[in-house]
Amino acid sequence: MLIAMKSLLQKAEEGKYAIGGFNCPTLENVCAIIEAAESLNKPVILSFPQVHEQTVPLTVIGPILLQAAKAASVPVCVHLDHGSTIEYIEKALKIGFNSVMYDGSRLPFAQNLANTKKVVELARSYGADVEAELGGISGDEAGIAAGGDTSSKLTDPQEALQFIRETGIDSLAASIGTAHGFYTEAPKIDFARIQEIHDRSGIPLVMHGGSGVSDEDYAESIRLGIRKINYYSYMAKAGVDGVKQLLDQKDVKYFHELAIAARAAMAADVREAIMQFNP
Ligand SMILES: [Zn+2]
Repeated sequence: MLIAMKSLLQKAEEGKYAIGGFNCPTLENVCAIIEAAESLNKPVILSFPQVHEQTVPLTVIGPILLQAAKAASVPVCVHLDHGSTIEYIEKALKIGFNSVMYDGSRLPFAQNLANTKKVVELARSYGADVEAELGGISGDEAGIAAGGDTSSKLTDPQEALQFIRETGIDSLAASIGTAHGFYTEAPKIDFARIQEIHDRSGIPLVMHGGSGVSDEDYAESIRLGIRKINYYSYMAKAGVDGVKQLLDQKDVKYFHELAIAARAAMAADVREAIMQFNP
C-alpha cells in the first residue's frame, strides 16, 4: 500500500528504527525490494534518483514504482532521490511520487535555503513530503563521482536548525561521515553530530551512503536519530554477483535468466539490510 513518508518516518521515530530507501533504476530492483519487504512484513521506500534518468526515464519507471507500491502488502513510499531542479521534482510529483528530495547542497547556504523553500511549497500543493540536504555528501547514486570519498563537508548543527526552521522540511539528509558509493576505507561516523542535530531539531535524519556501514555503526546511528537509510551500492553489486554466479554455472542463452538471478540476489541483500535497519 502507498503510504506517506511522514507517517512512515513518524512510526520509525516512535519505534526507534530506520526504514531503507532503496534505489530503483531497473525493474529487477523494484521487484527485489518489494519481495524482500513483503517477506519480512516491513515498510520500505522505493526511490528513484535523478542521476538514473540516463538508465531509465522517470516517466517510464515512475508509474511502475507507484503501481508496485499500491499492490504491495506492506507500507511503501515512493520517493524522488536527489532532485536537482524544480522542474524535475514537479515531474515526479505529477506522476504521483508522495515524497521528494531536493539536493541544493552544492549551492551556497542562502541559495539552498531559498530553493528548498520553493520545493516545500510546491510539494505541499501535491500533498507530498520533502527531504533536503545540508552539508555535502560526496559521490552520487550512479557511482559516477568519486565513491567512498569521505571528505564530505559535515553538516553544521546550528545551520541545520535554521535551515529546518525556515524551510519547513520533513526530514534532513545530514552529512555525518558517510559517502556515496563503495568505501575505500571504513567511514568514520560523527555520532555526536547525529545526536545534536536530531535532538535539537526533532526531525528524522537520513543517512546517505548506507552501503558498507558496519552493523554496530548502523545500530548506534539509528539509536541517535537516523530514521531513513539510503542503500544502493551493495544491492547493485549483489545483483552483479548473482549474474556472475549463474554465468559460471551454465551457458545462459536468455537474458531474462540473468534478470531473475540478479533479482533473487538483490532480494536476499535487501532482506539483510531491512533486518539490520528495522529488526
Ligand atoms: Zn544520496
